[in-house]
Amino acid sequence: MAMMTGDQYVESIRKLKMKIFLFGEQIDNPVDNPILRPSLNSVKATYDLAAQAEYEDLMTVKSHLTGKPVNRFCHIHHSTDDLVKKVKMQRLCGQKTASCFQRCVGMDAFNSLFSTTFECDKKHGTKYHRNFLEFLKEAQEKDWTVDGAMTDPKGDRGLSPGKQADPDLYLHVVERRKDGIVVRGAKAHQTGIVNSHEVIVMPTIAMTPEDKDYAVSFAVPLDSENLFMIVGRQSCDTRKLEGGTLDVGNCEFGGMEALTIFDNVFVPNDRIFLNGETDFSGMLVERFAGYHRQSYGGCKVGVGDVLIGAAALAADYNGAHKASHVKDKIIEMTHLNETLYSSGIACSAEGFKTESGNYLIDLLLANVCKQNVTRFPYEITRLAEDIAGGLMVTAPSEKDLRDPKLGPYVDKYLRGVASVPTETRLKILRLIENLTLGTAAVGYRTESMHGAGSPQAQRIMIARQGNVEMKKKLAKAIAKIE
Ligand code: SF4
Ligand code: FE
Repeated sequence: MAMMTGDQYVESIRKLKMKIFLFGEQIDNPVDNPILRPSLNSVKATYDLAAQAEYEDLMTVKSHLTGKPVNRFCHIHHSTDDLVKKVKMQRLCGQKTASCFQRCVGMDAFNSLFSTTFECDKKHGTKYHRNFLEFLKEAQEKDWTVDGAMTDPKGDRGLSPGKQADPDLYLHVVERRKDGIVVRGAKAHQTGIVNSHEVIVMPTIAMTPEDKDYAVSFAVPLDSENLFMIVGRQSCDTRKLEGGTLDVGNCEFGGMEALTIFDNVFVPNDRIFLNGETDFSGMLVERFAGYHRQSYGGCKVGVGDVLIGAAALAADYNGAHKASHVKDKIIEMTHLNETLYSSGIACSAEGFKTESGNYLIDLLLANVCKQNVTRFPYEITRLAEDIAGGLMVTAPSEKDLRDPKLGPYVDKYLRGVASVPTETRLKILRLIENLTLGTAAVGYRTESMHGAGSPQAQRIMIARQGNVEMKKKLAKAIAKIE
């Protein structure tokens, strides 16, 4: 089996015996849970879209390892064309789900480990690249969704991993055995982890030689012993338990994050990709972050497309669509959204070949891309709320609309243009609410700020890659300064 159907994917997740906690209780699986199911559906979309002929070129690609077709989410980029198609695929998935479809973190971990393990082996004579290739082959063959876990809880930000009051605030090796290692710690904000088959763990920062035990990377199945997940809350999440569809805004799709605990988890030798080589920790972090910052130039743009469409419909439904200021706001939203896309495409087109043979994005442009993402979705959101009007947060519930006595009043007084049913108008307003304030706001707003690294992390990279000295020379040459 090289590619699963969406339904096969769902059943494969149902079979995993993961330990997932939600509202203080362990749940059987994410498949049948009404809070989690929409997030599973978003990942399922990455399988469903791959099976559609019109998206074949974007969603599938030939594996460079086996020559067989694989889902692009399991692919190693081998050209700038691959990098560009990755961003286009993410925009498509964002358009179709209007949420975080979660599978990119694994793809970005694959590509950063591919080159980093190669270079680490070359310097240290380790065997991590071979380990990684075996894992990748299996991931492609079984069409896995893989979580890429980087963010440690980090405790006191002023202290290095080994200096923390609690040594577990960064995930680390606690025991070295002949057959493998035992690790303890946690990874926070893990996007899509309950919808994944495996998790790739990576360090979260560059390490100094004394933090050897913290420079560790590996992959384990999500039903590993002593591994468990505590699902994070999202704004308006319990609306999904109310039984209706209108108030949820996006009833089919969503995203999810979880605090993931590794409470002495065993990792066999052949699943280790870094183990104490502190000099490669920074490279892995920088590359993973770079790929994921590129990713945001695709996924957030796709979700932005839906939000722009929703804002335009809200104006159509209340008769304001011809007002010049509304038209101008839609233009502004489009301009901002396409600017995000431009940097996603630019960092891909300017990608380059690494020693291992895969392609890395232009790191400066990828960081500029993500820095823009920390700002523009907020402005797009502000404009969408402006166009939508206050009703998106004051409208009565679906139950009121369906109530035999109250419903006719809601229908009568909340109608915009006469030809559009009130329910249609409310559907669009609830979608805007979902994207700007509800469950999807995690993915579209706060994740735009902090996902793939907070704004300051990009500014550090922009400072490092910006080459101001070269620019000073340019100025001196023009000004005729010796
Ligand atoms: Fe993919 Fe975007 Fe979600 Fe990251 S935030 S996993 S890039 S959809
Ligand atoms: Fe993310």
